[in-house]
Amino acid sequence: MKIIDLRSDTVTRPTAAMREAIARAEVGDDVFGDDPTVLALQARVAELTGMEAALFMASGTQSNLCGLLAHCQRGDEYIVGQLAHTYRYEGGGAAVLGSIQPQPLTQDAQGRMALADIAAAIKPDDPHFARSKLLCLENTWNGQPMPHSYLAEATALARQHGLACHLDGARVFNAAAFDAGPGGDVFAALRRITAHFDSVSVCFSKGLGAPVGSILCGSRELIGRAHRIRKMVGGGLRQVGLLAAAANHALDHHVQRLHEDHALAEQLAEGLGGIPGLSVRSAATNIVFVDVADGRGAALLAHLKARGIWATGLIGLRFVTHLDVDSAGVERTLAAVREFFSADAGPHDLATAQSTAGPY
Ligand SMILES: *Cc1c(COP(=O)(O)O)cnc(C)c1O
Repeated sequence: MKIIDLRSDTVTRPTAAMREAIARAEVGDDVFGDDPTVLALQARVAELTGMEAALFMASGTQSNLCGLLAHCQRGDEYIVGQLAHTYRYEGGGAAVLGSIQPQPLTQDAQGRMALADIAAAIKPDDPHFARSKLLCLENTWNGQPMPHSYLAEATALARQHGLACHLDGARVFNAAAFDAGPGGDVFAALRRITAHFDSVSVCFSKGLGAPVGSILCGSRELIGRAHRIRKMVGGGLRQVGLLAAAANHALDHHVQRLHEDHALAEQLAEGLGGIPGLSVRSAATNIVFVDVADGRGAALLAHLKARGIWATGLIGLRFVTHLDVDSAGVERTLAAVREFFSADAGPHDLATAQSTAGPY
């Protein structure tokens, strides 16, 4: 039975063509700074995001961490969403390793912090307070693209008060693909998003289909500081051109197709929306959140798992589309969900239910 893995877009396996690109990669020792494939990737992504410099990272968490530590000193603070990845899902790294205080704020259903709340959270220069240094936004947030007007207003507000702005753009290419629309220029849309920020972190290992890797982009000075921090956290990698080649291949072949993942998510959302007992919360890009009535989420997950369909969540289920999912997989998923509600699968399925829920 072919597994349909909808847990995350991180689960993609490198394509045959990507494996060939990895095999062909010219490499050097990146700690000595002479891996040509890494250097070329960093230059390419700096250009794509409109930044001066970029630095390849092992993961999105490492990339955000190095970014936060490069922006902030001990006793500084960053303003961030209560449910943002950089606050909630990175092991408290900024506080643990950087002594940077997070100032988390409530977000609305689209992931936005109210501008008034941001303004109120920025502290005056007074020894009572931590120094407010950085605003941290995320796009997409839970699969939802941030409106440009919000990005513009929030970053302008932060700048008025002397704060820098970091974007956790783990899935920023999905936001750009959404903005561009099918057939539109995703790279141009990316530039319009990153233009609001001083630094941006982008993942290759999610919708772009690479096995490993993220990148931090910013000014030459910021990236210089991040380079030192990356070494400190064990992120100095050697013949890492192998991974940079995968990322480069992803930029060539997996960006302009992202709208296909979004169309699959829409197909899934439409089908699920028609099933009584389910309500679809959002499906703007490649992530579909569904609320299941009567606490039957775990039983539904178990039912799907028994049929080779993997998803996460408990009350709200999460389905993520990506390179390794196709229309037939979506139809098979819909058929299995319909079967669950018609056959009225009982609570015995709960025994094998998964209980993980996360932003992974
Ligand atoms: C996945 C993700 C990250 C980083 O993830 P890693 O698993 O460390 O690569 C950061 N931010 C967001 C919003 C993410 O979804």
